Amino acid sequence: MSVSHFPPRDPRPPRDPGPSRDPLALAPEDCGRGHACQFCPQEEECRLEKGHHEKRLIESRLAKIGQIIMVMANKGGVGKSTVSANLAAGLAARGYRVGVADADIHGPNQSRFFGFVGQRVRLGGNGLTPRAFEAEGVEHPLRVGSLAFMMESDDTPIVWRDAYKHDFMHHLIGSFDWGPLDFLVIDMPPGTGNELITLADLLEGHDVAALLATTPQEVALMDSLKAVRFCQERQLPLLGVVENMAGVTCPHCGGEFHLFPRAHLAEALAEVEVDSLAQIPLSPALASGSDSGQPIVLAAPDGPEARAFAPVVEACVAHARQGFAEAAAHSLQALASEAGDELEAALASVPPEQRDAVRHELQAQFAGLLGDAPRPPDPDDVTR
Ligand code: SF4
Repeated sequence: MSVSHFPPRDPRPPRDPGPSRDPLALAPEDCGRGHACQFCPQEEECRLEKGHHEKRLIESRLAKIGQIIMVMANKGGVGKSTVSANLAAGLAARGYRVGVADADIHGPNQSRFFGFVGQRVRLGGNGLTPRAFEAEGVEHPLRVGSLAFMMESDDTPIVWRDAYKHDFMHHLIGSFDWGPLDFLVIDMPPGTGNELITLADLLEGHDVAALLATTPQEVALMDSLKAVRFCQERQLPLLGVVENMAGVTCPHCGGEFHLFPRAHLAEALAEVEVDSLAQIPLSPALASGSDSGQPIVLAAPDGPEARAFAPVVEACVAHARQGFAEAAAHSLQALASEAGDELEAALASVPPEQRDAVRHELQAQFAGLLGDAPRPPDPDDVTR
């Protein structure tokens, strides 16, 4: 099968690669181990700087991830985890390498949604190994990391103060061995509290975008608008809103009807200039797919639920491709500017009367080498 990947990009437009600008070049010695200090048998006697090790570990994970999608909901119970799981499954079905990071500390459901209830993760030389979800039509097993894999039992309550939550967010990104991924989907906890701020800080400067899950109820809408504002204030690209439980299909006549009027939602989203990407029906098949560990977009790829999720998947792919194109354009510009400097230096040795002619000739050749503007990878025309 032909697939394409979004290669990890420089977090932002090209930076000065000089050694004095590279913080890691000046950083203290690192042990190079692929796991957090907390899991290290030598932690007590180790005299290396542990903060540096943890930072380096997180950066090394993020360097292999193309696009991060944070699935947010400012209110609990709107189906954010369902949206996360089916988005991840939809991306995996398109041939991308996908991970799901379950950041919902108080309700880590991704283990259930991918059929791993009661299972644990192992600590290997390169960190915690995410569980690998395989399904028909998925070329690259989906990698799932969740607090649920580290709990004594599924009904163990999490009673943590903020410092522990902060640490877990670092573990989620740094301690799991995510490997190279095209997309990491993060199932965020509801609200705009500690976990969200910690992750937003941690991922700053990387390719991160957000999706907002909500239901059309007024109370959910009111909370969602706070999350919209968070994204705007943090300059976190918000791809749009996924309206969950948007309607019901009658099991008798097949007709659709809406449980909640959506006029207010549409109006409010228009006001804050946020798109509604999809309306996901309230569906028994969707719920039972989640309960049985088989996301519906894979279990019934031609069903109405999978069709409803398709624009959400498409929006994420389009955003990643746009980011790739912009990064490639920046790289080309940097290359062109470097080449321009070198060209001028070389022209200094050409007799003045010939300089313009030589310059035009070389510029034409360079433009020919670069060709047209860069195109992002396409799943159908790039073979790995
Ligand atoms: S304690 Fe941390 S820094 Fe020290 S050897 Fe272990 S993993 Fe490396």
